[in-house]
Amino acid sequence: MDFNVYLPTRVLFGAGRLNGLHTQSLPGHKAMVVISDGKSARANGALTRTEEQLHMAGVETVLFDKVGANPLKTVVEEGAAFARANACDFVVALGGGSVMDAAKVMAMYAPQPGELWDYVAGATGKNKPLAHAPLPVVAITTTAGTGSEVDQWGVVTNPETHEKIGCGGMDSLFPVLAVVDAELMTTVPPKLTAYQGFDTLFHAVEGYISAFANPMSDMVQAASITRVGKYLARAVHKGDDMEARENMAFANTLSGWSMVTGSCTSEHSMEHALSAYHPGLPHGAGLIMISKAYFTHFINKHACDGRFVELAQMLGMTEAKEPMDFIKALGKLQKDCGVDNLKMSDYGIKKEECMLLAQNARATMGGLFACDRVPLTDEECAAIYEKSYC
Ligand SMILES: [Zn+2]
Repeated sequence: MDFNVYLPTRVLFGAGRLNGLHTQSLPGHKAMVVISDGKSARANGALTRTEEQLHMAGVETVLFDKVGANPLKTVVEEGAAFARANACDFVVALGGGSVMDAAKVMAMYAPQPGELWDYVAGATGKNKPLAHAPLPVVAITTTAGTGSEVDQWGVVTNPETHEKIGCGGMDSLFPVLAVVDAELMTTVPPKLTAYQGFDTLFHAVEGYISAFANPMSDMVQAASITRVGKYLARAVHKGDDMEARENMAFANTLSGWSMVTGSCTSEHSMEHALSAYHPGLPHGAGLIMISKAYFTHFINKHACDGRFVELAQMLGMTEAKEPMDFIKALGKLQKDCGVDNLKMSDYGIKKEECMLLAQNARATMGGLFACDRVPLTDEECAAIYEKSYC
């Protein structure tokens, strides 16, 4: 029962909690507020409300509004330069996983000399230690997806090298404060709600079957998975169902803690390869596409039979007895959420790419392969892509 626990992010959780941001002790006087390049944060009032809260607390703000899905290295570099040019002393991320990830990496890179990739570990990164502490980050999540508001990583894509890679990872990159307010999530459209909800689910499921599972991570993941099983379809079909949205918001924060107390596995490496080559593919959709073949592989290898039965039960199949019942429960949830017919070919993925993707997954995000209970070869990895292909 050996494990470490370090969950340093203060979390304001609950519907309407954004309204209390101004009462918090904030980590600076001038914030770069980071939002996506879309319309939602302006249209639904979240940006105005956040700026008002910061101004009430005596904080000056500047806005960086250029972060797209699967955020690019160039956008992170531009955001970091913007923070430097405006002498910002902290960063406020207002958005989903892409915005929070990009904002964290901007906060990491803004005070450093040299290139961003100097500070990236893995693949072509130079893995240099930081010369200066990152700027503090406040993360306000507007989606129930990655749990990025409570972890110390940011995933960034380098399109030149096809690397979609986790940057950061140091203790100083945990957000100092997170706001998880389900009222901000009611306008997320059904498809995105489903993709993000499945990302939440897979963070927790991967952790539950990983080689680094421990009593603390088991507890966090079980609480997350049970909520996804009970509430995701409701949140997809009725966006203003606050009970469903709040429970999914909590499942999401738990899925962030899942990565902090435990780990994801190679399924995430495999998805990163897909969206590194095909940036139009949403992260959650890519995970859904490969999920059945991926988990079936580990079931066939008897990686952890009892845990797969427990996972099926957590998803609501109380009568589950066989490990493959998890695949049935997963398939049912995908159908209930309207995401059971996603096709790789719709995103321009070709069947011939399977081995290239397998090799990219290991070269870029090889660390997560070490978290699998049973080693996964490149050939097996390519076969999972092939079985998932349609
Ligand atoms: Zn994820």
